[in-house]
Amino acid sequence: LTRLAEDDMQRPAVLKSGERMQVMLNAGLSAEHEQRFINLVDGVGLYRTEVPFMLQSGFPSEDEQMAQYQGMLQLYPSRPVVLRTLDIGADKQLPYLPISEENPCLGWRGIRVTLDQPEIFLIQVRAMLRANAETGNLRILLPMVSSLEEVDEACRLIAQAAAEVRELVGHALPEPRIGVMIEVPSMLFLLPHLASRIDFVSVGTNDLTQYLLAVDRNNPHVASLYDSLHPSMLQALAGIARECQRLDLEVSVCGEMAGEAMGSLVLTGLGYRTFSMNGRSVARVKYLLRQLVLAEVQTLTQRLLAARSASEVRQWIALFLEERG
Ligand code: PEP
Ligand code: MG
Repeated sequence: LTRLAEDDMQRPAVLKSGERMQVMLNAGLSAEHEQRFINLVDGVGLYRTEVPFMLQSGFPSEDEQMAQYQGMLQLYPSRPVVLRTLDIGADKQLPYLPISEENPCLGWRGIRVTLDQPEIFLIQVRAMLRANAETGNLRILLPMVSSLEEVDEACRLIAQAAAEVRELVGHALPEPRIGVMIEVPSMLFLLPHLASRIDFVSVGTNDLTQYLLAVDRNNPHVASLYDSLHPSMLQALAGIARECQRLDLEVSVCGEMAGEAMGSLVLTGLGYRTFSMNGRSVARVKYLLRQLVLAEVQTLTQRLLAARSASEVRQWIALFLEERG
């Protein structure tokens, strides 16, 4: 029986009404550790490169990083693997580069750190490009971007790293696709400009919720206010989906919301077709998606977009799920 269930989970996720969904993996540990999920997903939608950095006592060398990334890229050689550049600061600290600030969530984190310390960024990107030599399935994702200048500067550094690698190996290596995390609200209004600069975007609902609602995602005093189903979040997510469709800009969702039952339901209704989530959520979300009829979910979502509170949103979704057993 377990074997049967496993075989079933390996089939792609298709809605009851026939739409193909992409379910990808959020990873952060070694390739060996992620191996067990390999047959369940359509690729790696987010590899958090800061996790191995956090487990070390000093910066990993370019060669060490290359070996790590190669393991991930070769795990899914014929599918996309998204490696996110270092996203440290706030809740993610390196013991050998401590950052202490008054407002760490609004401070020196993500791309801000690596653009200020371009050598860290260049070493990491060179390691990624070298790791991609054989598979060619690399996608590079930029975290905590809040302006177009940051995107342009990061792209310039990626081109510089590619030139350095070309010099080193004597020939050009496969070009990666480049993407930006949509997790700071300022990016919601810059999507048309992003579309002409990069290849895809990935919505980080964890930080987007934190910044849109001004609620620290790790502060227990305000935990009850932190809710990705807040009506304003749904409006923001609807706007992103609409704009990306209009611009023909590839979009996925890699925040926790994509791996939750209610979250994945709402995101499907809003038009998203690619989700990335931690390995433990994959089977549950695939099972849920297979029960859905798109037109019904879209009708529900229209109702949710008119809701006045997150609790009202939850009530409507609970009713929807109850009616369908
Ligand atoms: C997010 O912010 O939604 C996200 C996926 O990134 P992280 O949780 O690593 O900040
Ligand atoms: Mg984030």
